[in-house]
Amino acid sequence: MDKLKNKVAVVTGGNSGIGFGIAEAFKNEGAVGAITGRNEVTLRHSAEALGGDFIGIKGDVTNMNDLELVFRKTTEKFGKIDALVVNAGGVVDGVPLAAIDDVTEEHYDRYMDLNLKSAYFTVQKALPYLNDGASIILIGSSAAHRAAPGMTIYGAAKAAIVFLAKGLSLDLLPRKIRVNTLSPGSIDTPVFGKLVPQEQLEQVKQVWIDITPAGRQGLPSDIGNAAVFLASDDSAFIVGTEILSDGGLTNIS
Ligand code: NDP
Repeated sequence: MDKLKNKVAVVTGGNSGIGFGIAEAFKNEGAVGAITGRNEVTLRHSAEALGGDFIGIKGDVTNMNDLELVFRKTTEKFGKIDALVVNAGGVVDGVPLAAIDDVTEEHYDRYMDLNLKSAYFTVQKALPYLNDGASIILIGSSAAHRAAPGMTIYGAAKAAIVFLAKGLSLDLLPRKIRVNTLSPGSIDTPVFGKLVPQEQLEQVKQVWIDITPAGRQGLPSDIGNAAVFLASDDSAFIVGTEILSDGGLTNIS
């Protein structure tokens, strides 16, 4: 298994859920590189679980200095970067998803900062360190296509991610860098524990299972496998588009 042999990857938010699943899939295909996140303990544990092929670098994706540090440290250790997965995002700590009457300006800004602004600047700060032929994968969401209560701002940010991939592709193709969006449906990760109380967790997951035509939640490895394809030269002619890995969720109304 060496689809990513000799490739260097950075996965933001690689210390949990989907990001860890992607880093694991990359490692299994021969890649090395870095995972990032803010929590030093989970970063250390995740890097250990990846068997030393990936280092953990602490950084907040909403902080420009942290982003620069992540890419500088990665290249100091491994040389230039071949694959960047812009995955960190989702629920803002301590700021639950909310309906319009409960949304403050601060709530709006923090969701947009984490799920849209940080993606743009993660790409910008990575550019000096990317190899010719690099692949950038923006993690979107089925929420960009399928509205759900309380998810309007998050879904709008993720819809904008789809356009970022299109626009950035045009900007970056002359530099031989591809950008695509990989949009998960409902994936079984720790994010659900941030959204609902423990006693409602199984019930909420069951609702997602019931509305997903594939009859299950996705696994981080489902997204990892698709990310391997987008990071590899097998997808060399796939530019500025979106791949959904959602078990058919967005095919139903
Ligand atoms: P998790 O909550 O398991 O992981 C989120 C990751 O993002 C963590 O590694 C976290 O690390 C990191 N992160 C959060 N905020 C910041 C920040 N400010 N700076 C740096 N890192 C940060 O969620 P998932 O794995 O489920 O989600 C990963 C991505 O997938 C997100 O972009 C989410 O929107 C998307 N997604 C998830 C779906 C799902 O059903 N799970 C569905 C569709 C899309 P730390 O806390 O250490 O900073």
